[in-house]
Amino acid sequence: MTITPQTPSQEPFDRQVVIVGAGPVGLWLAHELAVAGVNPLVLERAPRRSPHSKALGIQPRTIEVLALRNRHRDVIARGRPLPNWHFGMLEARVDFRDLPTAFPYLLAQPQSVTEQLLEGYATELGVEVRRGHDVTSLSQDGGSVTVGVRGPEGSYTVDADYVIGADGARSVVRQEAGIDFPGSGTSAYGFLGEVTLDRPPMTPGFTALNEAGRLLVVPLPGGQFRVTGYDPQNQTREPMTLDELRDASIRIAGTDFGMRDPSWLSRFGNATRLAARYRAGRVLLAGDAAHIHWPAGGVGLNVGLQDAMNLGWKLAAVVQGRAGEDLLDTYHAERHPVGRELAEHTRAQTALIVGLTPEVTALRALLSEALDGARAFSDLLAGKLSEGI
Ligand SMILES: Cc1cc2nc3c(=O)[nH]c(=O)nc-3n(C[C@H](O)[C@H](O)[C@H](O)COP(=O)(O)OP(=O)(O)OC[C@H]3O[C@@H](n4cnc5c(N)ncnc54)[C@H](O)[C@@H]3O)c2cc1C
Repeated sequence: MTITPQTPSQEPFDRQVVIVGAGPVGLWLAHELAVAGVNPLVLERAPRRSPHSKALGIQPRTIEVLALRNRHRDVIARGRPLPNWHFGMLEARVDFRDLPTAFPYLLAQPQSVTEQLLEGYATELGVEVRRGHDVTSLSQDGGSVTVGVRGPEGSYTVDADYVIGADGARSVVRQEAGIDFPGSGTSAYGFLGEVTLDRPPMTPGFTALNEAGRLLVVPLPGGQFRVTGYDPQNQTREPMTLDELRDASIRIAGTDFGMRDPSWLSRFGNATRLAARYRAGRVLLAGDAAHIHWPAGGVGLNVGLQDAMNLGWKLAAVVQGRAGEDLLDTYHAERHPVGRELAEHTRAQTALIVGLTPEVTALRALLSEALDGARAFSDLLAGKLSEGI
């Protein structure tokens, strides 16, 4: 990789891999490459890490992946193990306790903590993360990829042997590489607020599930609560407000729990798309750049980290000349089917969450009965959430 300097005083230097995006997936991939002796450059648009945490959970298989590098102790020390979790907000819970793993639980942990830890692991190995550097263009010929970057001190280009798009749902890398993103658009919106509750529910993980909608209240480290769910009366792209959250909570749960002082209000949708190819020549995609879905069951970040794990050692081997380029095709072959399964089970969960008809209510009751009564069914769903166990 050659960097064309912004100013004549800057020395160009050579590296082989550029990672676009310092979200959890880009950071873990950077760590994996560094472990193998490749020193990637990470370009991140945002000037600093987001204080907000989309994801709140780490699945058992992901802890196993971190443990392969002896990087699991910090997440376990800072997280809270939950022996069961939900699938499609069903009344009955998916039980993790019988999974064949050393970590048979969902680890409750905010994404901001996970990202902080992953960035620490990568930079400890010498990885440079450039914040405030927005990738605006990309082109490739047979031998290299040129990335256009807008940085705090002006624009510049970087030539790299390989570029990884870990730049999230609206991936510029995916678009510039001409990789299609087929699937279905948004037809339902969920709501999310992180608020102080003067009268929090007595049960941690409180849910209200009825014909008015769905509501889940989760305690967060630091004392606030996440109030999230689905409200059929507010299906809009307009910014979420505290009044709307309060109103939804009263209609669905019968109380607003004394909510105040929001630190974050947001919406999310059920657009579900999967990149047609995870590799286009010298450009590869990982994480949300490759797959998006309704955030049901707490899986997106997990699948993304597992993408990065699959890709890291392969890319390092190719870059170092220890393997041929065709090894990179196994990344698509192995991870694309996982992305397809992710799309399918999150679609199924979405149907269970946004369906408020008597028919869906009956289906939910039937599935809950099966979950409570059939160990194999619980294990099947736990395996889908955890992916790969
Ligand atoms: C409400 C909600 C709850 C969720 N809960 C869970 C959960 O419990 N468990 C779970 O596993 N997943 C969950 N997810 C999904 C999870 O948050 C995502 O799957 C995860 O963030 C994907 O990581 P990523 O690194 O692929 O992408 P991102 O986290 O989106 O990171 C991409 C990075 O790329 C940067 N970037 C973008 N464009 C450019 C550019 N042009 N140049 C440079 N940098 C760029 C961005 O600034 C960003 O930092 C949830 C999502 C939502 C919305």
